[in-house]
Amino acid sequence: MQAAVLREYGEPLDVTDVPEPELEPHGVVVDVEACGVCRSDWHAWMGHGEWADDQVPTDFVLGHEPAGTVVAVGERVRSVSEGDRVAVPFNLGCGACPECTNGHGNTCLDGRALGFERAAPGAFAERVHLPYADYNAMRLPDGVAARDVAALGCRFMTAYHTLEHGAVVVAGDWVAVHGCGGVGLSAVHVADALGARVIAVDVDDGALDRASAAGADATVRAGDGVDVPAEIDAISDRGAHVSLDALGRAETCRNSVACLRERGTHVQVGLTTDAERGEVSLPTDAMTRWEVDFLGSRGMPPTRYDELLGLLEAGDLDPGALVGREVGLTEVPDRLAAMTTYDTEGVEVLTF
Ligand SMILES: [Zn+2]
Ligand SMILES: [Zn+2]
Repeated sequence: MQAAVLREYGEPLDVTDVPEPELEPHGVVVDVEACGVCRSDWHAWMGHGEWADDQVPTDFVLGHEPAGTVVAVGERVRSVSEGDRVAVPFNLGCGACPECTNGHGNTCLDGRALGFERAAPGAFAERVHLPYADYNAMRLPDGVAARDVAALGCRFMTAYHTLEHGAVVVAGDWVAVHGCGGVGLSAVHVADALGARVIAVDVDDGALDRASAAGADATVRAGDGVDVPAEIDAISDRGAHVSLDALGRAETCRNSVACLRERGTHVQVGLTTDAERGEVSLPTDAMTRWEVDFLGSRGMPPTRYDELLGLLEAGDLDPGALVGREVGLTEVPDRLAAMTTYDTEGVEVLTF
């Protein structure tokens, strides 16, 4: 089958023939219809994460936001059948450890990260293996398009999980989103659906236009000399209740913490770059004084998927609306490279 293979960090992915996925007794093989192209892929491609013991291997297939049709089923799988349409989450749980059995499968002690580690090759490929399918497969309701579900990806489910279950956004809250790429736009859309008043921040006018279309009530154009927290204070009359750093740079992280009101919650979603290497200094005395929370967020427990799919079916959430571009497998190397200069349009999705 054809796949896009990471050979060397930062070098164009090699689109070539690779062996078919190996079916494990607890897994299924999925024929990929669509797979989101995400900034996490870019980080992986650049070789980031070595500072957190989280660097992807080389000679490896990236891609962690697929949806498609099940074409082979392991002998121990009970709840998934050939022909089922599924989304494959990137945060794969084992279903049996204390984290999984307590409803936190996204922090599984024995988890595999699809498209990031050798035990779970990714989905920039015609087919992909989904381990522990009874626990991890997200079966799609009729009529939900694979392209839309690929846009759910890690971004939308991370945004939903952290805003709904982590920061617990309620109607009327001010929510600031710093960085309006894929996960930022997803956060804008989800926060809007939860009834929040949303302030989108970015350096790019196009990104801010897309954020407004996704539900932002106000925008702040960041850049030289702009005091982003002060702008947000003025719009929200004392600062945001919840603020997300959806980019992962020192400046966006600090701005996100600094724009909060008392007892506000900062959510770190973006992963850092070579410049920060996972470390950002923060005003901890002020955070203590004002009882500001700092939440990390990554993925969503499989046991919560039904909630998200319900909102999709009801039309309350529309991840497909965030798709800016569909690309073929041979274009994926270029689209990853385009992320280096932030030259992407909303959520970009590989389709077969
Ligand atoms: Zn587990
Ligand atoms: Zn992703």
